[in-house]
Amino acid sequence: MNLREDFRNQRDCRALAERICFESRTPVSIMEVCGGHTMALQRHGIPSLLPETVSLISGPGCPVCVSDIRFIDHAVALAREPGVVIATYGDLIRVPGSTSSLEKEKANGASVKVVWSALEALTFASANPGLKVVFLGIGFETTSPGTAIAVIEAAKASADNFFVLSSHKVMPPAMTALIDEGVRIDAYLCPGHVSVITGSSIYEPIAGKYHKPCVVSGFEPSDILQSIWMIIKQVESGDARVEIQYSRAVRPEGNLRAQKVIEEVFVSSDDYWRGLGNLPKSGLKLAEKYSRFDAAEMIPVKIEETRESAGCICGDVLKGIKKPNQCKLFRTACTPNHPVGACMVSSEGTCSAYFQYGDNGK
Ligand code: SF4
Repeated sequence: MNLREDFRNQRDCRALAERICFESRTPVSIMEVCGGHTMALQRHGIPSLLPETVSLISGPGCPVCVSDIRFIDHAVALAREPGVVIATYGDLIRVPGSTSSLEKEKANGASVKVVWSALEALTFASANPGLKVVFLGIGFETTSPGTAIAVIEAAKASADNFFVLSSHKVMPPAMTALIDEGVRIDAYLCPGHVSVITGSSIYEPIAGKYHKPCVVSGFEPSDILQSIWMIIKQVESGDARVEIQYSRAVRPEGNLRAQKVIEEVFVSSDDYWRGLGNLPKSGLKLAEKYSRFDAAEMIPVKIEETRESAGCICGDVLKGIKKPNQCKLFRTACTPNHPVGACMVSSEGTCSAYFQYGDNGK
């Protein structure tokens, strides 16, 4: 079915919802692993358009939410160091660590600067040679090329006061870990922005080995409904393939230039994910060649012992085994103005999405 160009056309959405209702017979649980999809699903009320047979569950797709509490504690410890400036994307400063947050440290006098990119942090470092500027690298392949380019530029400029604390992650290990752990996932709605960089081929093992349909989706309502319909067609015919719905942006091979800069600067590493624990080969750390920019190596600090927020079930929400409204703190002690956990802080967090738009009846 060809979609009208704005990808929000009501007739298209209605037609797709009708096809899903008509063709879906087998109960199916579809996980999205992209914060943009989580917000779009709730904002457009898509769960309410689907039949009882189709369940949507949110997974670990929000970059801020999956950044582990140890990473926040590490950033807090760095912020307390004299002469260090933390440069970070805005959402991260409000994420609670074990006993503090970057927002609290800033209120106590630490230098915490919100930036839009790693290059902005590098420019700030170049203009302030007396300071050590630590950029907090979070997110998936959508953001890691930007961090990689800043590191390459820092090396060209022989910068000696620019550092990266990397918590960059790659998605497939988390997707397979959830299946291995026994979370009921029958199919994946695969992330659009990540796949622009990686290509859709990274999901082939999930479709092949795990027999789970994977459809890379765009972000508009008719994109998402068409993707769900593509999944339903696969489920009903017993298929498990990788398909690209978001073909106006995603190719099977992805963006080779962006992949090259990631490979130049980073190497694969084990990494902690909030809720999922330490996953083998799920993170990106700076390669030996660029280790002089690695804040973890170059600025040693004592990191406090980890203490999770009492009552917060963010970990279960990120694994898709609980919904935000199953948390006792949801809408009471925990709101976007007073977030207890990371999933309420981020504009792409599941708890934040449910707070803003409700759960749309699913
Ligand atoms: S509502 Fe708040 S406390 Fe509960 S899981 Fe979400 S972020 Fe954590």
